[in-house]
Amino acid sequence: MAPTLSTLNGDQVDRSVFEAVLKRRLFFTEAFEIYRLSPDYKGDNRGLFDYGPPGCALLANIVDVWRTHFVLEENMLEVDCTVITPAQVLKTSGHVDKFADWMCKDPVKGDYLRADHLVENVLKARLERGTKGLLKDSPRLDEATIAEYNGILARIDNYDGDGLAELIKQHDIRNPETNNEVLPPIPFNLIRACLSPPGTAQGQFLNFKKLLDCNQGVMPFASASIGKCYRNEISPRSGLLRVREFLLAEIEHYVDPENKQHERFSEVSGLSLPLLDREMQLSGKTTPRTMTIKQAVESSVIDNETLGYFLGRVLLLLLKLGIDPTKLRFRQHMANEMAHYARDCWDAELLTSYGWIECVGCADRSAYDLTVHSKHTGTPFVVREALPEPVKVDEWQATLNKKLAGPRFKQDAKTIQTALSALDQPTLATLSAQLTATGTATLTVPLLSDGTTTTVPLPRDLLTITKSTRLLTTRTYTPSVIEPSFGIGRILYSLLEHVYWSRPDDPARAVLSLPAALAPTKVLVVPLSANAQLTPLAHRLAARLRRAGIASNVDASSAGIGKRYARNDEVGTPFGVTVDFETLRDGSVTLRERDSMVQVRGGEEEVVGAVRALVEGVETWEGVMARLKVVVGKKEDEEE
Ligand code: AMP
Repeated sequence: MAPTLSTLNGDQVDRSVFEAVLKRRLFFTEAFEIYRLSPDYKGDNRGLFDYGPPGCALLANIVDVWRTHFVLEENMLEVDCTVITPAQVLKTSGHVDKFADWMCKDPVKGDYLRADHLVENVLKARLERGTKGLLKDSPRLDEATIAEYNGILARIDNYDGDGLAELIKQHDIRNPETNNEVLPPIPFNLIRACLSPPGTAQGQFLNFKKLLDCNQGVMPFASASIGKCYRNEISPRSGLLRVREFLLAEIEHYVDPENKQHERFSEVSGLSLPLLDREMQLSGKTTPRTMTIKQAVESSVIDNETLGYFLGRVLLLLLKLGIDPTKLRFRQHMANEMAHYARDCWDAELLTSYGWIECVGCADRSAYDLTVHSKHTGTPFVVREALPEPVKVDEWQATLNKKLAGPRFKQDAKTIQTALSALDQPTLATLSAQLTATGTATLTVPLLSDGTTTTVPLPRDLLTITKSTRLLTTRTYTPSVIEPSFGIGRILYSLLEHVYWSRPDDPARAVLSLPAALAPTKVLVVPLSANAQLTPLAHRLAARLRRAGIASNVDASSAGIGKRYARNDEVGTPFGVTVDFETLRDGSVTLRERDSMVQVRGGEEEVVGAVRALVEGVETWEGVMARLKVVVGKKEDEEE
């Protein structure tokens, strides 16, 4: 029986040993390292990493599983939009003015520290020391202080700049590296400073009209995109988890705001999710409660069915990737954490040696994005649907006197007309009342050509607003957007921590128990010895596996077979095939499973078939053991 990962892993991964394995096997490496090491280098390469061969293969396999799980399975409309984005688009989307993190400067060292992380790290360290007595001279904390610190930590995501400043002052929180006092937090925009979008969403929104047409006008539907995005993290210190450039996979699901039911809800509604909702965090709790998605939606813990559906799909994806379910929780955003327009937001967080890390964000962004871009450009981002029965409605209509408006506003006349056409009914009613009362209505418009004003007074001779009754046969609405976004690098790193362990009898032998579908190489073919007849057989078998679409490698080095398998365990290769002297006699080979190290023996045809079935996930290792002859007796290191 293979040992279970959680028992072997314990709660903590020894990060220095773990990262040493990943770097040695070139899963990833520091970018521009040789320059950083050169004496005259003055730049900053923190938060920048390159992926090496197994890292690239793993990344590609994660993306592949993601694409099959979402794009293929749910018929999403995939787009690949340009990263370079005009400043005006980011201004409209709100990324230039908002999107701030609170940063504190260490005035002596010049370092910037993220204020919430600073408070979190310092209080956690004090709790560690004060409750476990890690340092002899550290004072033990009294019960009231422990409760206070735990309460602050549970609510940490809800503090704004002032709140964080107050905490830092009240609890004398300093830069742990220097013990210097820090300056009060200031907002820092992660996006503005890097002139590129924080995600792949804007391109999807801007193509909404074309995508809706592409979908024959049928709602609801989703678009999806995978692309690089950028954050100007100013003090990245968490390896692959906080980087400046990363791969993001994003879904924008467009749904009727008045009907957020999901056709396939019943497929996930019975799944149980570990939920840490807003109220629990406010009351100082950090342990999630488990609820089915159905219960959570019915009791309004999760805002609506579509959001619940996607949380379920996110859970299934993470489990498929091999994430440890005991190290996964869904945390709801606190009121202060969420954008003002968002209705609800949940993060899938994974437990790593760096603590709980947000790896997937899942937000109901209401109609915000489509509305702002539509208002700014005058392009209607709406859905028109036939009503089952025509209905009579009273409707306000604004008419601009074009003959007078043209000469008066010159090149701005069109902008004013666009702004008028985009007004909703309540605004038209207000403007009509204004026009009746004062003779002038004040219209808000995007910047005019002279750049000086955004409001224009329109007197009665220019503007008429009338109310009339219309028979409506269609309904027009701006869809709400539900946006699950996946940080692929964070998922990759957390997954590697979750599947990493070492053999109990030899802690130096690291194993990555990656699921076969994700492993960079599926099979290592090893000739038992350097015998001249065995190596060609190994190469022939590897070529056959590659032709069957199974990534394989040959290790014909002189190292002992145990050592060769150990190297292979470190990069997560799930299967090993050995060709030996029996192969020469009867064509049979052995097949070894990485986690249990159990070997079976069968004909080449049988073994290739078994490997393919295992990689495709249509057969289990137990099934293969029942079918093929289990090799008993030999320990790997004694094999040759
Ligand atoms: P956000 O829009 O900030 O919620 O980010 C979306 C997703 O991108 C998050 O769920 C993370 O998985 C990932 N992410 C955000 N910032 C970083 C970063 N600095 N480094 C790596 N991944 C990130």
